[in-house]
Amino acid sequence: MNTMENLDKLDQRSPVTELVETSGHAGSEWLARYSSSLMGVFGTPQRVLVRGAGCLVWDADGKEYLDLLGGIAVNALGHAHPFVTSVISSQLATLGHVSNFFTSPTQIALAEKLLELSAAPAGSKVFFTNSGTEANEAAFKLARRNSGSSSGEAGGKRRTRIIALEGAFHGRTMGALALTAKEAYRAPFEPMPGGVEHIPFGDIEALRNAVDDTVAAVFLEPIQGEAGVRPLPAGYLKAAREFTAEAGALLILDEVQTGIARTGKWLASEDAGIVPDAITLAKGLGGGFPIGALVTFGEQTSSLLSAGQHGTTFGGNPVATAAALATLHAIESQHVLDNVRAVGGHVRQSLAAVDGVIEVRGEGLLIGFDLDADVAPAAVTAALDAGFIINSPGPRTIRLAPPLILTTEQADRFLAALPAILQTAKDAQ
Ligand SMILES: *Cc1c(COP(=O)(O)O)cnc(C)c1O
Repeated sequence: MNTMENLDKLDQRSPVTELVETSGHAGSEWLARYSSSLMGVFGTPQRVLVRGAGCLVWDADGKEYLDLLGGIAVNALGHAHPFVTSVISSQLATLGHVSNFFTSPTQIALAEKLLELSAAPAGSKVFFTNSGTEANEAAFKLARRNSGSSSGEAGGKRRTRIIALEGAFHGRTMGALALTAKEAYRAPFEPMPGGVEHIPFGDIEALRNAVDDTVAAVFLEPIQGEAGVRPLPAGYLKAAREFTAEAGALLILDEVQTGIARTGKWLASEDAGIVPDAITLAKGLGGGFPIGALVTFGEQTSSLLSAGQHGTTFGGNPVATAAALATLHAIESQHVLDNVRAVGGHVRQSLAAVDGVIEVRGEGLLIGFDLDADVAPAAVTAALDAGFIINSPGPRTIRLAPPLILTTEQADRFLAALPAILQTAKDAQ
């Protein structure tokens, strides 16, 4: 589809401009208003973005960018995907919200679809949330219910420990924050919900030593995204499954960033040859619309949280679940998994040959690479100036998590520009 035509159509049918005049204001003007009205937790936004189409976005000053971050692995189908957009609009125009005193067909159909694509055994169930941290919050409560006492009541608790990894990122609400390792995120908010221990990343012996019958659950990201795209070593998930099964602890996989085709598979853990007790999903699931999910595997785990023990007002609402159904459908019908594998492989291979890139990690279109100097934040700035959105999760690490529909030609534009971007970053030091 012609990009400009697509944008014109969106502009025409958008009444948003009657509420907020989106054109005719410079980015600097918006940023001044931002800093006097929005809480400072995100620092200063890099740009003010006003519209997008496919893998491209435009800022308030009219500059075009190739989006290689995709809203941090969220915009699986890029921006303003016509099918996702029309499904969201038509669902909202039919039935937008019902509360969880009621259900709706899209909610049920999406739960069934998630169970199917995660190859979940009989008795598996889904709980919908609005974000990744909420999915992990639900998983944290699930873990607490795996108490080890026959009644599952607090008084008889034997399993008081929860294991997570150094480098882990599981979210920013208190339970998920307790699972998150980074001291700078945790320290200002102590005390954390109790019982979480962080063990060395990827160390199978450390895991073996940590997991016994006092452990309620082990939380793992198959690839740590925020830590700079760090995959667990081969065999780790299998070992984790073995130790947790033996000890009666739950194995909970956080696939918030890695799930939903990001790695060229529906789930990053798909090839590990294991059945976990639960997975959490969010980011790419709604194709840009906020939705998350906790999927519990098997009857026993799925009944740990019973009626009244958890809830949410918005979770699983008709519009969010329709958005996710549309996203999953488009991923299937547009052969997106094939594209992710092909383009992702090409990008990783090409990156490895770039001067100044010393290591390339990741799978599919979740890609991290290390530079030979601490210039990653400067490279992000230089990339923006050159018309590319990328991200630096560490001082010498760049992360790419572009829309899964990125073409080879688009990827090549970035790869061709990268040497000059890195040079500019080094010159700026
Ligand atoms: C982003 C992320 C989260 C938190 O998701 P939010 O939607 O930001 O709350 C949790 N786990 C992982 C692995 C993530 O990448």
